[in-house]
Amino acid sequence: SPRLIWFRQDLRLADNPALAAAGDGPILPVYVLDEAAAGRWAPGGAARWWLHHSLAALGEALAARGAPLLLARGRAETVIPALADAVGADEVMAGRLYDPWARERDARVAEALGAAGRRLTLLPSALLHDPAELRSGSGKPYAVYGPFAKALRARGEPPAPLPAPDRLRGVPHPAGGEALAALRLLPQPPEPDWAAEFGTLWTPGEAGAAARLARFLAGPVRSYAEGRNLPAIEGSSGLSPHLHWGEVSPRQVWQAVRAALPEGLDAAWPFLSELVWRDFSYHLLWHRPELPEAPLKPRFADFPWDPDAALLRAWQRGRTGYPIVDAGMRQLWRLGWMHNRVRMIAASLLVKQLQQPWQDGAAWFWDTLVDADLAANSASWQWVAGSGTDAAPYFRIFNPVLQGEKFDPEGRYVRRFLPELARLPDRWLHHPWDAPEAVLQEAGVALDRDYPRPVVTPEAGRQRALAALATLRGRA
Ligand code: FAD
Repeated sequence: SPRLIWFRQDLRLADNPALAAAGDGPILPVYVLDEAAAGRWAPGGAARWWLHHSLAALGEALAARGAPLLLARGRAETVIPALADAVGADEVMAGRLYDPWARERDARVAEALGAAGRRLTLLPSALLHDPAELRSGSGKPYAVYGPFAKALRARGEPPAPLPAPDRLRGVPHPAGGEALAALRLLPQPPEPDWAAEFGTLWTPGEAGAAARLARFLAGPVRSYAEGRNLPAIEGSSGLSPHLHWGEVSPRQVWQAVRAALPEGLDAAWPFLSELVWRDFSYHLLWHRPELPEAPLKPRFADFPWDPDAALLRAWQRGRTGYPIVDAGMRQLWRLGWMHNRVRMIAASLLVKQLQQPWQDGAAWFWDTLVDADLAANSASWQWVAGSGTDAAPYFRIFNPVLQGEKFDPEGRYVRRFLPELARLPDRWLHHPWDAPEAVLQEAGVALDRDYPRPVVTPEAGRQRALAALATLRGRA
């Protein structure tokens, strides 16, 4: 009987175990937009833009091989069994998902299928290692990255990826499908077209992922250890949204990077260890499903956050008065992505000096990042806030001026996203409020009018953060 191939976050043909398992048997490839199941973790605005274009690319690739994609909408536990019934499929195959809501949903789908004598088979395809499998010596899940990475490395490198099938045997579509446009994934209404610039940087889909990987291998990979910290250059891979949607698998990336750096595993490790951080985030999410909502360290439970809508809005819009942070927040808004170093600086300012709950920052990222990923986003925010199990020490308060001067010394990044400061000399670029009036005038910058003064001065911010952090002392 035909099989249903249920695409979720593995929007690719190559290295796709569900597709490979179907061999040359008849299949019905399906994507179900199931927003109710995801609740507040349904894809945010930027991710929906991505998903729309990625589904279009997947649809074309599948159709070209003989098995057009069926798009449907509704509760998966209703839609999937109905489709299986309509084509007489005994087995539904999909890549395993790890977000708490998806695990619960898959259990419901499996049950609904089981009641009709059918089954759901989930195959791991999104991570290097299944998070349920990796355990420390004492049998507990890992809470700290170092030992986790060591254990993962000790298991050996991932196997070679599976090739993409040349031809597929699709069955005729039953009723229940919709056109891509009907799913309404793009911003509605399209004015103002927030995502207008996304397409200049990103090409969602498997071919776009392969091109992005090739571009990384042709240059930045060799100097990744240094280049990754400099937001003004293309120093990292830019693969995060492609990995999130599974347009490329982590083992495909791993193997390609290893082949490009034949000096050995250690030469590739600065980059590969980031793929391991990705796995580690999923490990945390799997074993601590409260990760997106609640601090993992109990002593942070009643941290004295001071929610303030105006401060949060200034941060969201890139109007904090700290140029490196504002440049990052505007990069995020315009391109749906922010450099990792700047994510850390911007997040730190929000949770430390501005004392806004990390969950509010994470929610904004969720809506505006094309790579918004529940595991990586939640784990990273908890890392910055100091409330994760393996986190930056709580007393580390990034100084956004020094961070800017260190990682964007010539101000190329700040000038790109804050053109209003473009003519300010390097010396003042990361702290325009200190510049003499004559310098500001010469550069055509009127503070408050063209660019804000800091919403919290560096000294007041530091004191605020320290006072709040002092309340943690002595707690478990
Ligand atoms: P590269 O440096 O080329 O790294 C390769 C891959 O490793 C990335 O594509 C990503 O999949 C993975 N990776 C890298 N760093 C991390 C990390 N710290 N944790 C987990 N995986 C990592 N990453 C997301 O994918 N989605 C998010 O929603 C997300 N939110 C973040 C929020 C904050 C506050 C911070 C500080 C970081 C966040 N990151 C998130 C991690 C990191 O910033 C991005 O993965 C990275 O900037 C993506 O760019 P790249 O693909 O060029 O990364």
